[in-house]
Amino acid sequence: MNSIKSEVWNNCLSFIKDNIPPQAFKTWFEPIEVIKLSKNVISIQVPSKFFYEWLEEHYVGLLKSALIKQLGPDARLLYVIKMENTFGNKQPFTESIPSNNRDSLKPQEVSAPIYSRSEKLKNPFVIPGIRNLEIESQLNPNYSFDNFLEGDANRLARSAGLAVASKPGGTSFNPLLIFGGVGLGKTHLAHAIGVDIKDKYPDKTVLYISAEKFTQQYIESIKKNSRNDFIHFYQVIDILIIDDVQFLSGKSGTQDVFFHIFNHLHQNGKQVILTSDKAPVDMQDIEQRLLSRFKWGLSAELQSPDYETRVSIIKNKLFRDGVSIEESIIEYVAKNIKTNIRELEGAIISLIAQSSFNKVEITIQLAKEIVNKFVKNTKREVSIDYIQKIVSEYFQMDVSTLQSKTRKRHIVQARQLAMYFAKKFTKASLASIGSQIGKRDHATVLHACKTVDNLSFTDKQFRKYVEDLNQKLTI
Ligand code: ADP
Ligand code: MG
Repeated sequence: MNSIKSEVWNNCLSFIKDNIPPQAFKTWFEPIEVIKLSKNVISIQVPSKFFYEWLEEHYVGLLKSALIKQLGPDARLLYVIKMENTFGNKQPFTESIPSNNRDSLKPQEVSAPIYSRSEKLKNPFVIPGIRNLEIESQLNPNYSFDNFLEGDANRLARSAGLAVASKPGGTSFNPLLIFGGVGLGKTHLAHAIGVDIKDKYPDKTVLYISAEKFTQQYIESIKKNSRNDFIHFYQVIDILIIDDVQFLSGKSGTQDVFFHIFNHLHQNGKQVILTSDKAPVDMQDIEQRLLSRFKWGLSAELQSPDYETRVSIIKNKLFRDGVSIEESIIEYVAKNIKTNIRELEGAIISLIAQSSFNKVEITIQLAKEIVNKFVKNTKREVSIDYIQKIVSEYFQMDVSTLQSKTRKRHIVQARQLAMYFAKKFTKASLASIGSQIGKRDHATVLHACKTVDNLSFTDKQFRKYVEDLNQKLTI
């Protein structure tokens, strides 16, 4: 049975492979697993809802032809979604959806206070006294999809962005949460989606706002006793883009108001797009009910771009600025600045500026000096391995002991300290810290961080450990 199932699916795949570009095949078909075949129904497992929608949207015809060839005219396809798209989330759930039933993708209904729309709008962007009902989108037209170069590191997020832009509110990626480290393109991508929507649907009201500004407006509205006006304003937006939602952490009033706005927009089929520097599982001090809503749609990560993408980004930037520099210099910069696109662009801008101010040619020597400055200033991150080594040495134990499963108090404490410092000194997520320090989960790391915080308050000896280690790790 097993072999028939694989054979049928492999035949489908080779048919599909012949009909689409290799990259598309790799992205959309290789990750699929066939899990069941009974008579004319084949069940395939896909990694996410997004994946499912993408297949339905772009490849349903092709899949159908392939399956009909294998299973006859009554062939049917059943998708099984592997898990929610929150990377590192330890609660996989399985959900199966017949390919013709999209309704089952809808998250459960929520109740939120409904604010009437007929009352007059007060726009928090407008200076009091000046009425302006036309809502400015606050989008930056320079951030477009055209100049957001594609690579493996951003393919999912970029494709999801394009899908949302072509059908705002009409896909299951609502909200779309784009997350990733600094300078990896979250703001750019968020604007690009908004710009594209404005272009395709000029009548839709799009609004881009940073979570910080949103918070300020909210606080202002409380002062002026106009909280309801604030909420009304946000409830008439068709596409709401909120940048850097991690800023809301610990701000319970703003989270509460955002919760109501979110529910209202979501229930009315409006699109919400969020960005954050962390995956939902790693967000701290954000209320559970908001976090669970963030997970409703798609969380797509922007990772550090690979070498080829870095080269293309540099070339694209040079092209737009009308400057040309030698290939070997471009390669040098791309090889040495790896984790932050803003820095990559920054280095190129300094290079051009230096050479034009000082009227010197752009040489590899100049590139080295500039890259060194960038790399020196930013590469001060200690590694998790190094932290584990220092902590183990301090407590005179082996790294393997620190990582072991033992519940002996002094070993547990050493392990918790290593986790605490990994959180403090690296950009790694809780999940990734946990997996590197003795294969623990993110909740254990979170607990460790809290325990260390508490103990350093209440226990003098423990505080000394923290201070000593802190010193060792910062020199
Ligand atoms: P973040 O919001 O994640 O910190 P930004 O969106 O501000 O990052 O991006 C930093 C810089 O890198 C911006 O100038 C942006 O245009 C550029 N950038 C990011 N990703 C890409 C990409 N894929 N292609 C071209 N430029 C990019
Ligand atoms: Mg940003």
